[in-house]
Amino acid sequence: MLDPSHSHFPLMSAARPIESSLAPGFSRSRGEHPFRDEDPRTEERARLLVADAIAGRASDIHIEPGSSSVRLRFRIDGNMHDVADIPKNSAIRMVRYFKVAGGLDTTESGLAHDGHAGLVLDVGETIAVRISSVPSVSGERLAIRLLDAYRRPLRLPALGLDLRDISRVQQWLDEVSGLVAICGPTGAGKSTTLYALLEEIRNFDRCVITVEDPVEREIDGITQIEVNGPRGMTFATGLRSMLRLDPDFMVVGEIRDEESNRIAIEAAGAGRIVLTTLHANDAVGAITALRNYGARDFEIAAAVELVIAQRLVRVPCVECRVREAPSARELNWANRLSIALPEKCWHARGCRACLHRGYSGRTGIFEVWPLDHRSQQLVQEHADVFALHEHLGERKVSLMLNHGIAKALAGETTFTELLALGKQAPWLHQTPHPLPRKM
Ligand SMILES: [Zn+2]
Repeated sequence: MLDPSHSHFPLMSAARPIESSLAPGFSRSRGEHPFRDEDPRTEERARLLVADAIAGRASDIHIEPGSSSVRLRFRIDGNMHDVADIPKNSAIRMVRYFKVAGGLDTTESGLAHDGHAGLVLDVGETIAVRISSVPSVSGERLAIRLLDAYRRPLRLPALGLDLRDISRVQQWLDEVSGLVAICGPTGAGKSTTLYALLEEIRNFDRCVITVEDPVEREIDGITQIEVNGPRGMTFATGLRSMLRLDPDFMVVGEIRDEESNRIAIEAAGAGRIVLTTLHANDAVGAITALRNYGARDFEIAAAVELVIAQRLVRVPCVECRVREAPSARELNWANRLSIALPEKCWHARGCRACLHRGYSGRTGIFEVWPLDHRSQQLVQEHADVFALHEHLGERKVSLMLNHGIAKALAGETTFTELLALGKQAPWLHQTPHPLPRKM
């Protein structure tokens, strides 16, 4: 397995290091890249950094300047891990390398800007990355997203939906109509779910057009429009040009203002199929969000067919997870929510297999609400979130909390992960809902 001594960067002593090794087949040869550095080690080190990130299953690399040195960090399963501190001079050269690769203006370090690049790793193997540069008081900060991490086809069951929720989504796919809203805060996995739905519908004999900011994953067979790119297209102009193309399926990357809301709701009301994401805490919160963006109750009731709310939680490593008595924090959390914890529950530990992180990968916890006639009636009558919640209870829609508890009991996540969702967890604001009390 991987050994820390194989890492390509001076590992930090204070933080737990990312153990990594040379990615198999990583090319040490210089590519056809236009970058020519006075120090040939820069390109080598930049490529090794990317190889280390891939080996560690990272989704992003961050280059963060401090007052005296620059810290390299990886985002793995949503959490940041320190990799190394490097001298400012080498960091400046590395940042320049990535900026040249991404087609960013290297003479400009005072403005936020971003670009795409294909970094050549090995014979014929290229990894797609998005590079974002943001000025900070200590210098230029770079974030590199490894887009290939998302390249494998996404299927619905892989997201972590339970069988009943999969069949609810499948039923919508069989009948496709109206608007589907995927809800959650940033980092809840909304785009992943959206792309999984797109994978399902791209084989339909229909015209599918997306407006996204940015396009994170290219899908064959559909037209994707990127806004805020070099041509300066905004979300609103992107949506208007999408309508001119007369799509059957419209994918609105995110409803984020009154105009995008109006276009999405009107299109769904006019018989188009609309998929979108929303910043809303939970499924019933989607209705509030649409109301706040100016949609009227009868329009929402006519347009919305399916709401999916979700969060991401980490999966404990199967090699080292253990069953132990719940911790004081877990007991305290469970008491506040009136949940009875089992005598022993799953905890993450850490071993070589999971690079001592205790966790390996993430899974979603979901709330899937297909709006039936009664739901639409309640929305039209301006029912508030409490009344809608009660309705979800009657419909036996499993809440994210219920789904999370089921997964924690099965060892697919931990209660520690659920409580770590903290304030972004909708259940802290919910009216009491039937929860499992005996386990
Ligand atoms: Zn492990």
